Amino acid sequence: MHNVVNNLILINKELSAINSNTKIIAVSKTFPIDYIQPTIDHGHIHFGENKVQEALEKWTETKEKNKSIKLHLIGKLQTNKVKFCLPLFDFIHSLDSIKLADKIANEQIKKNFKPKLFIQINIGGEDQKSGIPLTEFENFHKKIEDFNLDVIGLMCIPPFVDDTELYFKKMVEIQGKTNLKELSMGMSNDYLSAAKNSATYVRIGSKIFGERS
Ligand SMILES: *Cc1c(COP(=O)(O)O)cnc(C)c1O
Repeated sequence: MHNVVNNLILINKELSAINSNTKIIAVSKTFPIDYIQPTIDHGHIHFGENKVQEALEKWTETKEKNKSIKLHLIGKLQTNKVKFCLPLFDFIHSLDSIKLADKIANEQIKKNFKPKLFIQINIGGEDQKSGIPLTEFENFHKKIEDFNLDVIGLMCIPPFVDDTELYFKKMVEIQGKTNLKELSMGMSNDYLSAAKNSATYVRIGSKIFGERS
């Protein structure tokens, strides 16, 4: 069996022992579709990319052939790229401004396609990171109610530290004040901890596909 499929099976097994609600987004950025294909053939559904242009080139035809595939945009989304990312992306994890909410609202009418959205939270309060600051979250969430968006959850990329569990717990606390069902958190280094802390989507790249060059 192809090793990427093996990796996926092993991680799925680990996760199902911890949290039966946690789904894997296989983060395939930088890898060509031929390399990813065995996981598609295996029946994997959720894939993640961080660049709109790369995803368009890689996934348009493959999604056409495999209607069950769900593509997740996990990287920063510039407002001028929104028109290219619908209907390619079924999920967008990086909603982090009113301007972007407005653009997506317009585009989903034009394309008659409503992507599922995560509000990205800057959980570590880091200057260089995207996401809504904790102090502004409540206000932001309220403001975007007017846009008729399909907001399903919260997403975070915690600071680069050894133990990220504290940030996962904070995310759960914020989620608890909303009616949002989904939590996108946890990557190759901390997906087990994320699953333990109620993540519904973990975003795993290198642990499945190997190191990126
Ligand atoms: C690349 C990326 C991942 C996957 O990272 P790995 O450490 O390779 O698992 C997850 N989330 C985001 C937002 C990413 O950009």
